[in-house]
Formats: sequence, structure tokens, C-alpha cells
Amino acid sequence: MSWLNDFADRIEHDAPIGHRTWFRLGGRARYLFKPRDADDLATLVQRARQEDVPVKVLGNGANVLICDDGFDGVVVRLDEGSFRQVEHRGTQVRVGAGVDLMGFARKCSTQGLSGLECMAGIPATIGGAVKMNAGGRFGDFGSTVTHVQVLRRDGVIEDWPQKRVRFGYRHTNLDDSIVLSATLALRQEDPTQVRRKFDETFAWKLRSQPMSENSAGCIFKNPAGLFRRGANGSGRTQGNALRPGQRFPPTRQFHRGRSGRHDP
Ligand SMILES: Cc1cc2nc3c(=O)[nH]c(=O)nc-3n(C[C@H](O)[C@H](O)[C@H](O)COP(=O)(O)OP(=O)(O)OC[C@H]3O[C@@H](n4cnc5c(N)ncnc54)[C@H](O)[C@@H]3O)c2cc1C
Repeated sequence: MSWLNDFADRIEHDAPIGHRTWFRLGGRARYLFKPRDADDLATLVQRARQEDVPVKVLGNGANVLICDDGFDGVVVRLDEGSFRQVEHRGTQVRVGAGVDLMGFARKCSTQGLSGLECMAGIPATIGGAVKMNAGGRFGDFGSTVTHVQVLRRDGVIEDWPQKRVRFGYRHTNLDDSIVLSATLALRQEDPTQVRRKFDETFAWKLRSQPMSENSAGCIFKNPAGLFRRGANGSGRTQGNALRPGQRFPPTRQFHRGRSGRHDP
């Protein structure tokens, strides 16, 4: 009996995953798993560990490049409803890791819940935004977070207060843990003002980055002391390694995919 038998109806074998990333490039995963809920995921993570099979979460794929040879492990997608819940308690909001960051930030700003306007134009899931501490010139995601619910690789679920998570420059200390949800402290302000700030940030982002061309956006980190200079060649990706693509104006930080697509 295979260690995967219990998950048969929600696991796909030899699944194409490149098309699920921003660049729409790359190969397949040995397994693609869509857990029902956190307990289901915890069970799989524990079993995979016993079997020595690596597990990776794929969010919106805005900061990963899938290698053409594929991934010899389990790729997890948090697509089910239990990972897309949003619970409001006043200005405190608990939001599931599978929720789309942009849509959520836009909705909050329309309701006058301030704090996420700086996320306008950043493609991500909440899980990916926490893991990478997404952000930019107007702020970063970690600044709004009060708690992160994580699943450790031994299958234990923990609630980490903000001070336990080290939110650095496009980096956290979450390492191999899987983000299940984040609790955010937002502020109630005038909805018109907050929405205007969101729209202005988005407009700035569109002016300054080629968002519609499968460009690499801010996947590359700015090398310390070299902002806007020499990122091509000396820059490091925030997440997985990226082979150099084509440089794209207006700044040298942006690259875009140019090889063939690997759609299923
Ligand atoms: C056009 C464009 C513009 C961009 N602009 C910005 C910007 O302004 N600022 C910025 O910071 N970034 C920017 N990025 C990069 C990207 O949007 C961020 O890094 C974002 O946080 C990635 O989120 P994701 O859900 O797509 O994660 P993915 O790309 O799917 O994954 C990134 C990493 O996070 C891990 N991960 C994903 N979900 C989870 C989870 N639930 N638990 C644990 N780990 C998880 C993955 O395993 C992987 O290691 C841009 C990218 C593009 C393509």
C-alpha cells in the first residue's frame, strides 16, 4: 500500500506546474496535492517526512521558476475554501494563506481598512506574501501582521506572534514551515482616502514596472548598495534561482521570460 493512498482523490501524479507560475515556464511535479484543510495537510506533511519526500507550497508562482526537469516531490496548492477564509474582528482580520493578496488588499481599502495599500500591484497569495515579506517603497507585509499560523514540518500547527517571525528584506525565518493564515491589525479610516491611496500606489507600480509582459517584476532583490545598478548578473532572486532572461526597461531589475511555454 502506498503512503499516498489516503489522499488519492486530491493528489495528481506527474502534474504540470510550470503553467501555474508567473512565467508559465518549467516542468512537472511528481505529485500535486490540494489538501482539504490544515489537518489533511499536516497528515501529508508528516508522511512525506517519514518517506523523505520534499514538500513545497506553490502560491501564485510570482516568485518561483520551475526547473525544466520538474520537481521530484509534493507541490501543495492551498486552493480549497478552508485556506481562503477571511474573518473580521473589528479591525483585526485573519486571512487564509490561499487568499489572493491583491484582491484582498483592494477589498480592504474599499472598506476603509487601511494598512495594505502598499501591497497594490504585488502578485501573491497571503502565504507567499508572509513567507517573502512582500513589499516595496511604501511598506511591507510584515508591518501589518500580529500572528502567523504555521504548520511545522513535523505536522504540528503553531500560532506565532509577530515578534517570533523575523520579517527582513524579502525574507523571514519561516524556513520550511507552511503558512496557514495570518492575522493583521488594520486601521479604520475614511474609505475614499484609503481607496485613493491604493489606486495611486497601483498606478505608480504600473508606471514603474512592466506588469503585463510576464516580466520578473521585483523577483530580483536589490543587491545591497546597488539599487537599480547592475542587478543583471549580480542580483539574487528572492526565491528560487532564475536563469537570466531578457532585460527589460525601464529599470535593469526587470527580466521577462522568452523561452517556450510549457502549458499542459
Ligand atoms: C510583476 C511582478 C511584480 C512584483 N513586485 C513585487 C514587489 O513590488 N514587491 C515584492 O516584495 N515582490 C514583488 N514580486 C515578487 C512576488 O510578487 C512576491 O515575492 C510574492 O510574495 C510571491 O508570492 P506568491 O504567492 O506568488 O509565492 P510563490 O512565488 O508561489 O512562492 C514564493 C516562495 O514562497 C513560498 N510559499 C508560498 N506560499 C507559501 C505558504 N503558504 N507557506 C510557506 N511558504 C510559501 C514558496 O514555496 C516559495 O518558496 C513581484 C513579482 C512579479 C512577477
